[in-house]
Amino acid sequence: MAVYDVDLFVIGAGSGGVRAARIAAAHGAKVMIAEEFRIGGTCVIRGCVPKKLMVYASRYKDHFADAAGFGWKLAAPSFDWPRLVGAKEKEISRLSAIYRDNLDKAGIAVEDGRAEIEDAHRLRLLADGRKVSARIILIATGAAPVLEPDVPGREFAITSNEVFDLPELPKRMLIVGGGYIAVEFASIFARLGTEVSLAARGENVLRGFDDDMRTGLREGLADAGVKLNFGMLPTRIEKTPTGYRVSLTKGMCLDADQVMIATGRRPNTSGLGLETAGVERDSLGAVKVDAFSKTNVESIYAVGDVTNRVALTPVAIREGHAFAETVFGGRAEAVVHSNIPTAVFSTPELGCVGLTETEARAIYDC
Ligand code: NDP
Repeated sequence: MAVYDVDLFVIGAGSGGVRAARIAAAHGAKVMIAEEFRIGGTCVIRGCVPKKLMVYASRYKDHFADAAGFGWKLAAPSFDWPRLVGAKEKEISRLSAIYRDNLDKAGIAVEDGRAEIEDAHRLRLLADGRKVSARIILIATGAAPVLEPDVPGREFAITSNEVFDLPELPKRMLIVGGGYIAVEFASIFARLGTEVSLAARGENVLRGFDDDMRTGLREGLADAGVKLNFGMLPTRIEKTPTGYRVSLTKGMCLDADQVMIATGRRPNTSGLGLETAGVERDSLGAVKVDAFSKTNVESIYAVGDVTNRVALTPVAIREGHAFAETVFGGRAEAVVHSNIPTAVFSTPELGCVGLTETEARAIYDC
């Protein structure tokens, strides 16, 4: 029988990769994990966790406004963006350190740097060129924001990767998109004091959600002062001495200090060595897997956003756990991707599971 350096090599220490590594190690596997950015992945570093902190910060505006009606007399509140960014950084660093500590305690070797696949059982660590052999390789590299639509000047736009660390609170901001990230950040920045405009190609926010919820959120955004531009997208972004001038379809034009594009995310699969190893991907670049997260290569698996099944943190964790049980726990577990609850941390918040009313009416006689 072939002897490998490790039983499992995980590429990417985000939600799915860390869970898989820890469960596999608990089953006695010798595990190594590589992370090129920061331990914790999108959710902890530049996704759910910092976003929730900013949601909490933003809602104080509503609480301050309500307070007088409940007998409180407050001095005029003011908001300090760099202070929030600093506090956010401290908290995510604390959480990232806990993740690292948990990996250490589980006996997992952590490599800070990029790993690329050389073949079905071998990887190369880019930091020092070391080669590692593994019985099983798990790809858990997540996804990254896209800069679409492809219009002149899109390189001036920021994405959810940059928005958490802006040096100052923008006075005017254009958010492009009508999905999770667009409505969450429109709700946040409108309350922190930014003049927010949103431009989306659809006729309402959150396609695929229940129509009543979409309408309620649309009204909530408008009430918070967000200027909604539906059926409209940028056609050009130009730099001006004070910010950016954005031309939109329908001949509209607006000025903004920041333009944030939130039109979806793509799996992080380029430059990983997947072609060399013969791992199949779909037309969007996502790694193709079966119900047990196995790719077409017997020893290579993938979990989380890189597979583009359902791009949500709890799903990645579930897939990572099920993979480790299947491969190292001797108990085959397939992940069922139907009826997954989801929450949108806009203000107001939405949560749902199962069919929308429209879908239910189309299927059942009611
Ligand atoms: P979403 O898929 O939620 O929304 C994308 C938006 O961009 C939609 O309004 C879509 O329009 C529009 N769009 C897509 N492609 C283009 C294009 N080429 N030109 C113009 N508009 C376009 O993506 P997000 O980036 O907001 O978030 C990515 C994913 O991250 C989410 O789908 C979700 O899985 C996850 N996420 C989850 C959160 C949570 O659980 N609370 C929070 C944040 C992200 P249309 O509807 O017409 O297709």
